[in-house]
Amino acid sequence: MLIQRGGLKVVAGLGISGVAAVNFLYQQGYRVAVTDSRETPPGHEQIPADVVRVFGSLDQALLLQAEEIIISPGLDPKHPAIQAAQAAGIAIVSEIQILRRATTQPIVAITGSNAKSTVTTLVGQMAEDAGRKVAVGGNLGRPALDLLKDDPELYVLELSSFQLEATSNLHAEVAVVLNMSEDHLDRHGDMQAYHAAKHRIFQGVKHVVYNRDDALSRPLVPDQVAMQSFGLNAPDLNQYGLLKDLDGTIWLARGRERLLNCAELYIQGMHNYANVLASLALGEAIALPRDSMLNTVKQFKGLAHRCEYVTTIAGVRYYNDSKGTNIGASLAAIEGLGASIASSAGQLAIILGGQGKGQDFHSLKAALQQYVKVAVLIGEDAAVIADAVQGSTHLLNANSLAEAVALCQQHTQSNDVVLLSPACASFDMFSGYVERGQQFVACVDALAAKEI
Ligand code: ADP
Repeated sequence: MLIQRGGLKVVAGLGISGVAAVNFLYQQGYRVAVTDSRETPPGHEQIPADVVRVFGSLDQALLLQAEEIIISPGLDPKHPAIQAAQAAGIAIVSEIQILRRATTQPIVAITGSNAKSTVTTLVGQMAEDAGRKVAVGGNLGRPALDLLKDDPELYVLELSSFQLEATSNLHAEVAVVLNMSEDHLDRHGDMQAYHAAKHRIFQGVKHVVYNRDDALSRPLVPDQVAMQSFGLNAPDLNQYGLLKDLDGTIWLARGRERLLNCAELYIQGMHNYANVLASLALGEAIALPRDSMLNTVKQFKGLAHRCEYVTTIAGVRYYNDSKGTNIGASLAAIEGLGASIASSAGQLAIILGGQGKGQDFHSLKAALQQYVKVAVLIGEDAAVIADAVQGSTHLLNANSLAEAVALCQQHTQSNDVVLLSPACASFDMFSGYVERGQQFVACVDALAAKEI
C-alpha cells in the first residue's frame, strides 16, 4: 500500500500502550500505521483493520514516512530504525505527549525508582474519595490514552523513565520524583542519563513535591514554582515529615502539626510512611481536603504483593512483598518494617531467594544483622545468598514456600513479623511474582486456619 506523505502517525511498538495510541489517533481521524519487530505483537487484533501494519521487523521505510512517531515505552530509542528517523528530523514522542496535547485538564505526574505504583494508587484513591472525577493509569494499569475516554477532570499518572524520555513540556499541575536508585542503567547508559530522563517530568510544572532524604529527587525549577518536601525527619513549617514521641509513637506530620498516628495505618514500614507523606503533599497541591485524604490513608491497604499485610497469627504479623524482586526493594522492606517493630522488641523472619540475576547480596548483610532473627532461603540462588550473607543472621533452607512459612512461624513470637521479600526473580519456582505472592498468602491462610 502506498502511503502519502504528510500527517502520518506511526506507532512504533504495539502492546498495551501501542494499541491505545493506535486506536486514539485513528478515532481522531489521523492516518495511522504501526510497526513492531514481533511477528504477532500482543494486541494486534485490537486495532482497526485498515490501519497499515508492518510486523516482524521495525520498518525503517515506514518510520521515515512519519510526520510523527509514537514510541512505545518498551522500545529502546537507540534502535537503528528509530535513530534513522530521528536523524531525518522526525519527531519521536511518547503516548504521554499525545495525552498532554489532547487535554487541558490537570495532571498529577509521579515517577521514581521505587514506590510509583503505591503512590499513584493512593493519590488516585484520595482524589476519588474526595469526590473528584479522576482517571488513574500510565505505566500502571490502564494506558494513558485510554483514560481520555473517561473524560476526567483530573489525571493521576505513573510515568516511567522510558515514557519521560520521549515527553516534553508535560506542564503537570504537580510532579514528583519519589526517589532515585540505580535502575535500568542497561538502557539509559548511566545514572546521569537516567536522572535527566526522570527530571523531564518537571518541564513546565506548577507545583513540585520532592524527597528531602534524596537530593537527586529535587529539581532546579524557576522561583515561582511552588515546592513542598516530604521526608522521614521532623518537618519544617508547611513541609511533610515524621514527629516522634518519647514513648516511640510515630506521627505523620505537617510542620508542627500531628496528622495521624502511624500505628493507625495498614501499610507499615518507614518507606511506606514516606509514600503516604508524598501522597499527602501531592494531594495538597491539587487542593484535596485534608480530612478526606487522611480517611483514605487510614483505609489504604496497599497494593497486592508490595509489603502487603496478610494477617496476624498469634501476635505475629505476616507481610507479602513478592514484588521485592531486587535488593533495593527488599532492603526498603527490611529496614522499613524492621525499624517500625524495633520499638516493641519485634524482629523479622524473612523468606529470601529465587533467581538472583547476578546481584551482589552482600549489601543485604547489615540490614539482616540489625533487624532479622532468621532468614529462610529458597530457590535457585539460595546458596549464592547464603555465601554472601553468612554470619549476619540465622540462616535456614526450605524446599518449598509452605516449608519456608512453617519455619518462619516456628522461629517467631508475638510482635515479630514474617516477611516474604525475596530480592530475587521468581521464575525458577513460579510463573511470576504474582503467583509467588498468591502462594505465600495461601500458605499463611492455611496456617491461620489451623490456629483457629
Ligand atoms: P514501582 O511501581 O516503582 O515498582 P511499587 O509501589 O510497585 O513501585 O513497589 C515496588 C517495590 O518497591 C515493592 O517491593 C515495595 O515494597 C518497594 N517500595 C515501596 N515503597 C518504597 C520506597 N519508598 N523506597 C524503596 N522501595 C519501596
